[in-house]
Amino acid sequence: MGVAEKLNKRSTFVERILNWHRNNRRNFPWRETSDPFAKLIAEILLQKTPAERVLPVFIKLNSKFPTPHELSKAGLSEVEDLVGALGLKKRAIYLLKSAKTIVDKFNGKVPDNLNDLLKLPGVGLYTASAVLCFAFNRDLPIVDSNIARILTRVFALNISSKRPQLDKSLWEFAAKLIPKGMGPRFNEALIDFAALICKSKPRCFKCPLLDICEYALKTKKQKNPIKNNEK
Ligand code: SF4
Repeated sequence: MGVAEKLNKRSTFVERILNWHRNNRRNFPWRETSDPFAKLIAEILLQKTPAERVLPVFIKLNSKFPTPHELSKAGLSEVEDLVGALGLKKRAIYLLKSAKTIVDKFNGKVPDNLNDLLKLPGVGLYTASAVLCFAFNRDLPIVDSNIARILTRVFALNISSKRPQLDKSLWEFAAKLIPKGMGPRFNEALIDFAALICKSKPRCFKCPLLDICEYALKTKKQKNPIKNNEK
């Protein structure tokens, strides 16, 4: 595929994902608030956990401890009681320590830069980038295993790592896809697309990318080898 074709495919991908999302956006309270602390809490809760499970926990946690000051004063067992149902034992500790760090080191405000966000316990590159994107409107890529799945399938990217979400080149690829000024919208669309269409077991029959997806084209060829060889 030539450079022009590649660029064309990328813009088709972006356009179709955004179009699809117009009618398929999922509503969650952390998407409707502009409070960076609520968004940070949501991102920590969403680590390795589906949004539907996070929803009731987020609502309780956010209404009981809506600010870093309030959460920093909570007891560990109180936080564990609220978030324990989601698993990941350390999550309650991360939430509590992050709130304390924000109060002690950042004057009670969620940092708006990568270096400082990465100083918060339990916050890695994905969570920090998601907070910068969704809370501070930055055009930054966010690549977890779900978004990595879409990109590697559609573009047949040659990622050697067993955990493609950690591959630097995939982050760079995702960064180039973001339409200027639309980071939050585009990343939300990718998250929803991975949750509803390009799941582990993909729903290709409902997918608006079917004709440009390398994975789907390859699967079709494997299912119809004779027909395809005759062409
Ligand atoms: S065609 Fe299938 S594999 Fe490709 S992006 Fe759509 S759902 Fe995913």
